[in-house]
Amino acid sequence: MARARAKKKAAAKRQAAKPVAQETIEEKKKRARAIVARLRKKYPGARTALNFNTPFELLVATILSAQCTDERVNKVTPGLFAKYPTPEAFASADFDELAQDIRSTGFFRNKAKAIIESAKIICEKFGGEMPETMEGLLQLHGVSRKTANVVLGNALGKATGVVVDTHVHRLALRMGLTQWRKRAQAEKVEQDLMELLPKKDWIFAGNALILHGRDTCTAREARCAECIVADLCPQLVDLVPS
Ligand code: SF4
Repeated sequence: MARARAKKKAAAKRQAAKPVAQETIEEKKKRARAIVARLRKKYPGARTALNFNTPFELLVATILSAQCTDERVNKVTPGLFAKYPTPEAFASADFDELAQDIRSTGFFRNKAKAIIESAKIICEKFGGEMPETMEGLLQLHGVSRKTANVVLGNALGKATGVVVDTHVHRLALRMGLTQWRKRAQAEKVEQDLMELLPKKDWIFAGNALILHGRDTCTAREARCAECIVADLCPQLVDLVPS
């Protein structure tokens, strides 16, 4: 009964919302900021679910998290960081041995290569210290803006952009905050979100949208009837990154 009432309420609010296509940029900004304010109430301390002790550990954990759950990565990293405690240790790791060490995270050969090559660049170009800027991180092997934003935002508190993974991309589409649908256009989605949100919200917004995408607006089902931003969202539920 309560669920039916909530559904009806959400449908009424949906009808009342102004179509995204007619929104001015200022209206869209206002709506995006209101969405983030609402998410802040639901996920006040939103942060990455990956465990780490140093920015470099978060870099490695983020590389391992591609196509893998954070829980699985968190099972692997304690032993991994005990065995390879520094960038130097990863740089001189035996490729096959490291690949086996991270096998359970999937795509382990690609990931082993990315970690070893990145660690080598850190040792050879950055004196063994992980770079702490977007520009520096992008020089590492296979590190995208998404990975760099995860590390800079969560480990160093630096707002250099908005993390756009598949959850953030899907939610931005469904919320009418971007029109870029292709996965390869993630950086354009990021630019849209950076334009709509104040810098102080960039780190939180990425982390909170990921949590919201995991528990409410999932790829399989958008649970609009129980969603805390239903009245602020055009509910373009058929949109997913392609
Ligand atoms: S669950 Fe529905 S209302 Fe909530 S963000 Fe997703 S599409 Fe919008």
